Amino acid sequence: MSNRGLVILDRDGVINVDSPLYIKSADEFQPITGSIEAIVRLYKAGFSIYVATNQAGLAKEKFSLEDLTLMHQKLNVLVESKGGKIEKIFYCPHHPDEQCECRKPKPGLLLRIAEHAGQALNQADFVGDSLKDIEAALAAHANPVLVLTGNGKRTRETLENSVVTFQDLADYADFKLTM
Ligand SMILES: [Mg+2]
Ligand SMILES: [Zn+2]
Repeated sequence: MSNRGLVILDRDGVINVDSPLYIKSADEFQPITGSIEAIVRLYKAGFSIYVATNQAGLAKEKFSLEDLTLMHQKLNVLVESKGGKIEKIFYCPHHPDEQCECRKPKPGLLLRIAEHAGQALNQADFVGDSLKDIEAALAAHANPVLVLTGNGKRTRETLENSVVTFQDLADYADFKLTM
């Protein structure tokens, strides 16, 4: 399988339905229609898929590390049962007040992905639904991509500069697969 580069995805609002009350369990982790299939199609087309997600709910004790592990197991099983693969899920467990280096909009998670993949990010897309995602992509010298699921529509209204935008992850995958 050819390596066509990295596709990095935000999680909540891109892969699964987001909630202002946090996604706290595997039960609450519900894929957005077409998102699992989009990941599988991108993987089968030769892209390496990573996830970069802020999970401050851990520090806020909204859910435990075990809950998060179960959510990510569910995601991996859904993707792998259809023949796809997520290389690795990188998450920031910190509270916003901790001033860590990994919470988006900082580029820490994306830089760790670059290191794990052994690839620079200048050809990598980072697909997100929030301003933090776009800012992290720019800070890490990756290509920001906005989807209109999750917070995406609200994010688009607040943007000063235009960003490559798709309806959802399935729409993004359609575009990547015709490139
Ligand atoms: Mg999000
Ligand atoms: Zn962090």
